[in-house]
Amino acid sequence: MSAQHSAAAVSGELLAQATAWRHDLHRHPELAYGEHRTAEFIARQLTQFGLQVHRGLGGTGVVGTIRRGTGRRSIGIRADMDALPIQETSGVEHASSASGVMHACGHDGHTTMALAAAALCAQLPGLDGTVHFIFQPAEENEGGGRRMVEDGLFKLFPCERIYALHNWPALPAGACVALDGAMMAALDTFEIIVRGRGCHGAMPHEGVDPILAAAQLVSALQSIVSRNVDPLQSAVVSVTQIQAGDTWNVIPDSCQIRGSTRWYEAAVGNRIAERIPHLARSLAEALDCSADIHYEKRFPATINEPSAARLVRDVAAGIGMPVMDAHPSMASEDFAYMLQAVPGCYLWLGAAREGENPGLHSPRYDFNDAVLSRGIQLWVALVQSCLSRP
Ligand SMILES: [Zn+2]
Ligand SMILES: [Zn+2]
Repeated sequence: MSAQHSAAAVSGELLAQATAWRHDLHRHPELAYGEHRTAEFIARQLTQFGLQVHRGLGGTGVVGTIRRGTGRRSIGIRADMDALPIQETSGVEHASSASGVMHACGHDGHTTMALAAAALCAQLPGLDGTVHFIFQPAEENEGGGRRMVEDGLFKLFPCERIYALHNWPALPAGACVALDGAMMAALDTFEIIVRGRGCHGAMPHEGVDPILAAAQLVSALQSIVSRNVDPLQSAVVSVTQIQAGDTWNVIPDSCQIRGSTRWYEAAVGNRIAERIPHLARSLAEALDCSADIHYEKRFPATINEPSAARLVRDVAAGIGMPVMDAHPSMASEDFAYMLQAVPGCYLWLGAAREGENPGLHSPRYDFNDAVLSRGIQLWVALVQSCLSRP
């Protein structure tokens, strides 16, 4: 990065304000598609900074736009707004005031960094182009990113490139990881109902035991990754729920199995999606049962466009952030839907704390405020790098 692209400084005043916003958002967490107070706050701030504000995409989504000069170049910066159904035990002074709901994934921090970056970008001289700050609902499980895309996000707000970050407590505070290609895995879920015929537990020969078939199926499902997937590819098949029966001495009619699968390559995902119903049907049949299978495609893999990832690494290094290498994660992220529509990059911002360092989705987690200024600087430097007048 040249000197003229050096990031606008995050003043002590802005940082204090951003920290106050973060704590306020943390105190008032809202679940998927219920982010009304959060969206209201974001829209009010963006309006104050002088951005054009659009509301309602994907329900509670908010988009704030800065247009300068001829406006031909355009980028999007996305932050997620939702919290999780977890009872907070962090003990921090700004802990959640909502029972059973908390910002355990740091989306309060993501929203804050994008807001503060928008405030700084609105004041930047020398820009020529458009930047859209996109605040999405329902990242956790509910596909708010997909809903915004389906509601016409990129038709209303065309972006040549789209960027998002996630704080990452497993990485050193202030470090940046932006991989070429896969960053987060795809996710599908499945539900299998194995049906037999209930009977007395003492007379199993008078019925058909679905629990025995389900138990064998759970074991057999583990053959998919070990026997059907190329050992040099990555995949996970996890059975996470199994439910049947009500008492000691009755063989039930049916047994329900639920779980999820993860992978990066579509061919691997297709193979898993084909093997699970096949195993379920044939094993059930071998034991005189039947199987109803519901297999659901959920999130695609989060795949970075290499040139966008390279730009993020260059910009991060240019503002003095350590740029690290890492394995992609087998967790999933609904920014994947936006990356399917528009090329771009999803990056991790290292957020480790000294001493106890609770992970994402822990009831003791709290976003690390020490990395706020890094995230803000990174977004501003990226906007400058993409949209500065030559
Ligand atoms: Zn999360
Ligand atoms: Zn998250």
